[in-house]
Amino acid sequence: MQWMPLAALKQKILGAGGFVNAHAHFDRAYSVTPADLPGANATVERALQEKWQLVDAWKRSTSEDDYFSHMTSALRGQQEFGVRTALTFVDCDPVAGTRALSAAMRAKEYAATQLQMRLLLACQTLKGVLHPEARRYFEMALEKVDVIGGLPGADKGREEEHLDVLLAAAKSSKKRVHVHVDQNNDPAERETEQLARAVIRHGLEGQVTAVHGISIACQTKAYRQDLYKLCRDAGLSFVACPGAWLDARRNETLTPTHNAVTPIDEMIPAGLCVALGSDNISDIYKPFADGDMMTELRMLLESTHFYDTQELVRIATDNGRRVLGLD
Ligand SMILES: [Zn+2]
Repeated sequence: MQWMPLAALKQKILGAGGFVNAHAHFDRAYSVTPADLPGANATVERALQEKWQLVDAWKRSTSEDDYFSHMTSALRGQQEFGVRTALTFVDCDPVAGTRALSAAMRAKEYAATQLQMRLLLACQTLKGVLHPEARRYFEMALEKVDVIGGLPGADKGREEEHLDVLLAAAKSSKKRVHVHVDQNNDPAERETEQLARAVIRHGLEGQVTAVHGISIACQTKAYRQDLYKLCRDAGLSFVACPGAWLDARRNETLTPTHNAVTPIDEMIPAGLCVALGSDNISDIYKPFADGDMMTELRMLLESTHFYDTQELVRIATDNGRRVLGLD
């Protein structure tokens, strides 16, 4: 009998209760079309910040029933990939209105009754939380979501205020917070540090999770070590979505040699909790992503040369439950 490490790893994960997908955007799953793909000016070739606006046309024309159909397709796929628990962000803003959120509430019920899966919801704040109209939708979503979602980059130049709004909401609602940070693989970005300091300032240690943290690996070793200590002090946990950023574009900025991925090879030994997420599935951000968590885990372990099986199982299961507040 030959030993197959990848198959053995998967068996251990299924034996530990199955995958926890700690970060996704199921509401936009399978929204990419053939017209989005070809050519240098194709939608899929645009920069991240441009795509935040480009999804508007699709969001505007999508009904609650369509949203429900996209979400439940994604959930059925997730079930086949061995996911038992998932957290999806859901657009709730002046463009999507509350249609995606209403569909997500129904999808949550569908997951529980039809698929025996636990689905948790977080609000996606693509229009920020500072503009009064966007803020109104954020506050509407607050009562319905399980986790408060944030995207400081959506309030560019006012990131600190964005974090203050999220963290004040966390205090009053007693809900956990997940924030997209350091996505650009760029040493000029220091959003994880900014988030960790805000968490400590608000006294919310252990209640906040950073999603991505790609740019951390662009920093010097001394900065990274100081940052890990700061994150420990803040009880800041992480979600790595490897497939989401391994496609970071070539540029001429000189940084320490690294892969564009959350650096778990340093974070896990530094005592930080890191979970695993699929992020986008077949939308204009990631047209070929299918949400297979084993593929995500394989990308993570390969790109960081991280072979500790016990820790990999934890990343795929227990750590996910921890960042979702389920343990
Ligand atoms: Zn995301």
